[in-house]
Amino acid sequence: MRICLISDVHSNLPALDAVLAAAGAVDAIWQLGDVVGYGPDPDGVVARLQERGAVGVRGNHDAAALGGSEIEWFNPDARRAMEWTRSTISDDTRAWLEALPEHRSETGCELVHGSPREPLWEYITSPGVARDNLKLLDGAVGLHGHTHMPVAWIEDAEHGTGVELVRGRPGLRLELGGRRVLLNPGSVGQPRDGDPDAAFAILDLGAATIEWHRAAYDIRAVQAEMKSAGLPGSLASRLSAGL
Ligand code: ZN
Repeated sequence: MRICLISDVHSNLPALDAVLAAAGAVDAIWQLGDVVGYGPDPDGVVARLQERGAVGVRGNHDAAALGGSEIEWFNPDARRAMEWTRSTISDDTRAWLEALPEHRSETGCELVHGSPREPLWEYITSPGVARDNLKLLDGAVGLHGHTHMPVAWIEDAEHGTGVELVRGRPGLRLELGGRRVLLNPGSVGQPRDGDPDAAFAILDLGAATIEWHRAAYDIRAVQAEMKSAGLPGSLASRLSAGL
């Protein structure tokens, strides 16, 4: 079973379309939250994910788009973009977001946005946090997003911290080998690892591997759309830097 793993699409349809084209034929698309927020086309992204039968979970931006108090924790630009998102999404988009759970199990994998412990908010950015969350997994494989960084955290008794960090550089294929892992495909619509291309990963459950990839897309077109929607300029310009 070959799965296209995506996260943090953030209303960026050209980035999502570039990823879906680059992924080619897959058996499933699993999305790890933050479908909306920041970008200019929440309805277009949700329609595409619906059309492609993507399954997944809710992120903190998705929860905020539905009216949740999460918006209070956003920085001023994220908040402005979220207010815009709230005012623009269709009833269909809202209903699709409402139906997303915070936790989901698919074929023995656990899907969350932030972490298994705190699915909406916790950032897995340190060995300690990774170790605590690896222990909470029901099975061997946890899938998450939220940090916008393509990485794997692997349980490893030989490391002092008990956890090994692998950066998901493009083209890297990692053998999972039955170990407990937390895997992050990186962000489709707003990468933050210094590479502006849209990030995704292919999880092959038969071969027990994950492979990270990048797909180039028309960033300027998205920036122009953000400008005409009146979204904050800083959110548009960061797309060029991938930061
Ligand atoms: Zn995000």
